[in-house]
Amino acid sequence: MKYMLKNIPSICPACCSKKGKLLFEINSHDAAISQVKKNKYSILKKEIESIWGGNKCKVIRCDVCYFVYSIPHKSGTEKYYSIIYDNLQYPTWRKEYNLILNNIKKLQNKNIKYLEVGAGNGVFAKKVADIIGKHNVTCFEFSDKSIEEIKNHGLTCFNKDIKKFKTKDKFSVICFFSVLHHMDNPNLIFKKLSEIVDNDGRIYIATTPEESIAFMETQINAIAYPPTHVGRWNRLSLKKLGDRHGFSIEEYTLYYPTLLQSLKDIAFWKYSQKTKESQSLASKIASIKNNLIRKSFSLFLLLPFAASSLPSAIRRKKFPSSQLICLKKSKSQ
Ligand SMILES: [Zn+2]
Repeated sequence: MKYMLKNIPSICPACCSKKGKLLFEINSHDAAISQVKKNKYSILKKEIESIWGGNKCKVIRCDVCYFVYSIPHKSGTEKYYSIIYDNLQYPTWRKEYNLILNNIKKLQNKNIKYLEVGAGNGVFAKKVADIIGKHNVTCFEFSDKSIEEIKNHGLTCFNKDIKKFKTKDKFSVICFFSVLHHMDNPNLIFKKLSEIVDNDGRIYIATTPEESIAFMETQINAIAYPPTHVGRWNRLSLKKLGDRHGFSIEEYTLYYPTLLQSLKDIAFWKYSQKTKESQSLASKIASIKNNLIRKSFSLFLLLPFAASSLPSAIRRKKFPSSQLICLKKSKSQ
């Protein structure tokens, strides 16, 4: 895909600048067909149109902070995610966890409270609970299955929007792992964070860097469709948003993929596109219920995709696959 880069008046949700560039425009057909098989296509398309209030969506890059955002700036609903849910997978461990876990261990003698927004199946929250106690851990998650898993572990988990969270508690550590780019209204999120974070607390946000998504879109044609992806962050846009709500950057880390990871990402994306073609071999393999048999066949089928993806993977390796930002309240607060 080639970005249009056409000047367009639009208000940036991160820094409020009124100038931007239109990168591309998509319709509900494209956004639906790229994510699900034909049997779920109509219901997903209808839900996307209900979210957007129409059938078109623009993706715009701010001229000042380079935040990339969708207009309509609306994130996916619970129904939307329940339709595409088959495609969602939680990581078993992330590189970013180690840094945060070490920082929490340093605080373990204090009575600290931990909050995680979009906690997935609670893999990190459980580790934190081992250090600070289950009663000090609160999670937010939308998936019923994941909520059950987190609650079964004895942790508090809410199925609601963090922006509507009412509490008297102040949290020492608040984490967002691969979730902020799915959320609309970042100003309301940061307003809530400024209310609930402790004065010497820390907010950690891990998200895919904007430049990495741009590479996948312009070089591989792997489009990060709204309403799943409503914002693409970089250091400057996070700084501008933080400034407006009294936060400063304490730490900023970029994580680069290995060649193997890069190869896996691109080959798997190409393969997953094939699984959505109902008569393809990949689609038939994807529908095998036995995990071991499905994975074995998938691996075999992935090999030709991996071979053809190698040149792109070498180029992709130069772009960070994740960024971790740590924010704290500014001293004047
Ligand atoms: Zn901006």
